[in-house]
Amino acid sequence: MLLNCDPNDREGSMNLVEDLTMNANQVQQQILHEILTQNADTEYLKGFLSSGDHFLRELFKKKVPIVNYEDIKPHIERIANGEPSQIISAQPITELLTSSGTSGGQPKWMPSTAEELDRKTFLYNLLVPVMNQFNVYTSPDETILCPDNKQSMYCQLLCGLIQRDEVLRVGAVFASALLRAIKFMEDHWQELCSNIRTGHVSEWITESSCRNAVLDILRQPNPELADLIEFECKEKSWEEIIKRVWPRTKYIDVIVTGSMAQYIPTLDFYSGGLPLVSTMYASSECYFGINLNPLSEPSSVSYTLLPNMAYFEFLPVNKNQEEEVEGVVPPNLNSAEMNCSKKEDKEAGEEKGEAVDLIQVKPGHYYELIVTTFTGLYRYRVGDILMVTGFHNNAPQFRFVHRQNVVLSIDTDKTNEEDLLRAVTEAKQLLDPLGFLLTEYTSYADTSSIPGHYVLFWELKARRMRRGDLDEQLPEVMEECCSTVEESLDSVYRRCRSKDKSIGPLEIRVVRHGGFDALMDFCVSQGSSVNQYKTPRCVKSGEAIKILDSRVMGRFMSNRTPSWEPYRMGSSKN
Ligand code: AMP
Repeated sequence: MLLNCDPNDREGSMNLVEDLTMNANQVQQQILHEILTQNADTEYLKGFLSSGDHFLRELFKKKVPIVNYEDIKPHIERIANGEPSQIISAQPITELLTSSGTSGGQPKWMPSTAEELDRKTFLYNLLVPVMNQFNVYTSPDETILCPDNKQSMYCQLLCGLIQRDEVLRVGAVFASALLRAIKFMEDHWQELCSNIRTGHVSEWITESSCRNAVLDILRQPNPELADLIEFECKEKSWEEIIKRVWPRTKYIDVIVTGSMAQYIPTLDFYSGGLPLVSTMYASSECYFGINLNPLSEPSSVSYTLLPNMAYFEFLPVNKNQEEEVEGVVPPNLNSAEMNCSKKEDKEAGEEKGEAVDLIQVKPGHYYELIVTTFTGLYRYRVGDILMVTGFHNNAPQFRFVHRQNVVLSIDTDKTNEEDLLRAVTEAKQLLDPLGFLLTEYTSYADTSSIPGHYVLFWELKARRMRRGDLDEQLPEVMEECCSTVEESLDSVYRRCRSKDKSIGPLEIRVVRHGGFDALMDFCVSQGSSVNQYKTPRCVKSGEAIKILDSRVMGRFMSNRTPSWEPYRMGSSKN
């Protein structure tokens, strides 16, 4: 089922969304049927299913195991080494995409086919009418495809500045990438303005197709424009710089859900509070779905999974039960709905911990996403945890909760990405009165001493010129930040720290400006893609820790133990 969507036909596209979501179950059944019949002769499926099995969803679920990357890695490596695609896919594998997820320190490889590109285009085209936007970019293709990242970034910014009056939205896939672009502009605006003023492109732009594409747009000297941009950029504060440089911008097109949520305040600072729009939820494995309410607040963004993109299953996650026990009712749900959904769990197989289908998921429940794709992934664990927030027709909508397995652990504590984000968000507010913004953070579990302790690396940025005497207050505030992070972590952490003494005081190391760029450069040198790069919230590699440590300007420790009380049934979450 490969659908077409004409991005210019708003009504037709919206009808398509209605049809797909209304018939979610039928579409899912049809998708699974197509994937299985098409790939019946692959070595992988033949290992589990016999010829008649392909028509029965129940047999598929019974006989084909749920797998993670380590399970399928040998098959993917064989294909990478030149063996036929037929190992996993009837259609030729045309690309192996590097995912930001890693396996043994290396990026994972995700198979893709020519047809899958059309499926991705379908989803992109759907976004046009949903956003009422034009898919026109100021960056010529040659600048996007330029193999040199620095030249690519410079040229894209230059083209964006030259076409300043036409820019209606500013964006990148992930918030971190957009902020990197702004930082790059902060470092290069004088040179960019000089290029615009003289009509020449800097000599270090040596990639010829990229250079020519820029020259096609630059054409002639434009000192008036250079003056205008220079006037804005030389202001001491870069607050609202996006609005000032591109005054017609209506919104920022950037993903700010999941771990990207920590960038919201910095984006607000640079954009002057323009709407931040997270349009889609996608991965190297598969494009999953879109945000049908693009102007919703970042904290309440939900993605509607499109049932024609892949066959989706959902493994119930314990976290939901934990939260129910602790009396936390998810937003928009009343207790009657919670009880009702529990009764039905049994029929859906959820109570037995089995993977359930798209239309069987329950509002307020947490699940790990599993996909079966047209590209050779069968019952593959994506590693993302989602929470059901509601339905659009018969298709569930999900809040992205976190990516699994990003944890800090010293004793019995297990801190995931979301827990860490919550604690850091709480603590960083203490920096506001000093005029500092937290721009980046990561962490690691330092077990070199006994007991081990959590170490957070923070990069700070001054919002405005600051008085020298404020610096004297910084150590005290940073120590308070350490304690606030600890207070905000979960009860197991606080028990280990306060009662068991199995965790030492939490430490924050403040790194110099550019410390996290150096971390990114390191990750890219190890094979991460620049476009997909997201700051890891936990660094494990000794080399990465060394890179950050060598840029540390100040170390601060928590100077008191966090509060902790034994958990009692019926007590509030703690
Ligand atoms: P990659 O395969 O490297 O492109 O990374 C895909 C992963 O990025 C997904 O599995 C998610 O963990 C994360 N991701 C993608 N889209 C979103 C989104 N809209 N919100 C939060 N996280 C996302």
